[in-house]
Amino acid sequence: MKVQRILPTEEAADLLGLVREIAAGELAPHVAQFEAAHEFPREIVRTLGQAGLLSLAYPEEYGGGGQPYEVYLQALEEIAYHWFAMAEAVNVHNLACFGTATYGTKAQRAELLPGMLGGELLGAYCLSEPEAGSDAASLTTRAVRQDDGYHITGTKSWVTHAGYADFYNVFTRTGGPGARGLSCLVVPSGTPGMVVHERERKLGVWSSPTAQIGFDDVRVPAERLIGREGKGFLIAMGALDCGRLGIAACAVGIAQAATDYAVRYAKERHQFGQRIISFQGVGFMLADMATQIAAARALTLAAARLKDAGLPYSLEAAKAKLFATDMAMKVTTDAVQVLGGAGYVADHPVERWMREAKLLQIVEGTNQIQRMVISQGLD
Ligand SMILES: Cc1cc2nc3c(=O)[nH]c(=O)nc-3n(C[C@H](O)[C@H](O)[C@H](O)COP(=O)(O)OP(=O)(O)OC[C@H]3O[C@@H](n4cnc5c(N)ncnc54)[C@H](O)[C@@H]3O)c2cc1C
Repeated sequence: MKVQRILPTEEAADLLGLVREIAAGELAPHVAQFEAAHEFPREIVRTLGQAGLLSLAYPEEYGGGGQPYEVYLQALEEIAYHWFAMAEAVNVHNLACFGTATYGTKAQRAELLPGMLGGELLGAYCLSEPEAGSDAASLTTRAVRQDDGYHITGTKSWVTHAGYADFYNVFTRTGGPGARGLSCLVVPSGTPGMVVHERERKLGVWSSPTAQIGFDDVRVPAERLIGREGKGFLIAMGALDCGRLGIAACAVGIAQAATDYAVRYAKERHQFGQRIISFQGVGFMLADMATQIAAARALTLAAARLKDAGLPYSLEAAKAKLFATDMAMKVTTDAVQVLGGAGYVADHPVERWMREAKLLQIVEGTNQIQRMVISQGLD
């Protein structure tokens, strides 16, 4: 990847260098093996954690990296370039830490954050349910307050890291219907009553585990309520604003990987006595791919810079997620086209990138939902 980056500090430039080194040296050599085996590389995620890459944008005071969001996103892009499932792991972990870091009391932050941000623990974010996807405010998992804490009953679906996470950020209904009835609870793994169902068999991102989790009268102490009762939807959406920028950065990384691969191939492959890149039909396709990536990267970082400046950025995050993930779908599909038949077989990674890009148009609010959010925000 030859990307000219403008980074805010020398420290950030050094950090990106380290990320590139780790991604190329510790991630890239293993991706094919773990994807084919549908195996979650917990030890590799731990390596990312030990290098501080699971919590780059969280406060140093509690064990985070204290980096601006624009730096974190560029690091995430570098990781996604080499292994999207690992970037997804980082992104989901960041979602799972958001509630405690942003809305936790001083005591909760002091108790929980060093573990969450220290690199050893891995988080999961449990919002979706079988009957509540895009309409998350209709979720029905219920937490009832009793003398000994909250008792949670219900089913969460599509939980990334199900069965592997050390803590689960669970959104539940503690009040009446709608968004105002929701609350956020942190549930440690292994709490009695939690049942991880069979892993989903997915189109792609095979090394990342996704499964439903059943909650059968799962008890958590009242001190594990983050924010107040009724603040759950606010926390869930705040996390998604950040997460959508993460998804956009992943989309840029995947698209860049596919384009770099397609360019190399097009320079080597000869037909009609010429390199195929010299045919305008192929060269212009690659030019469009490179241009779309640059636009998506710029949009994503512009939104991140708003966030770093403490300005409203939700709408810009939705635009970045929408544009970058639609771009990644188009670019990875075109990369397959550039390789011809070779693009359609697993000997080359472009078919994997195309399968991975599809997920990005669905998660953290489908692209229809992003369009809805953006259209509702138009003046
Ligand atoms: C691999 C994977 C990992 C995931 N990881 C997590 C996770 O870790 N945690 C988590 O909480 N969730 C996770 N999700 C869930 C994901 O966020 C949801 O799939 C997504 O929000 C869409 O919900 P749904 O699948 O129920 O689709 P639905 O909401 O049923 O939508 C179906 C279709 O209808 C469209 N639609 C719905 N409402 C509208 C509307 N108002 N206007 C226009 N179109 C609309 C949608 O865009 C979509 O095309 C994951 C999903 C996958 C596939």
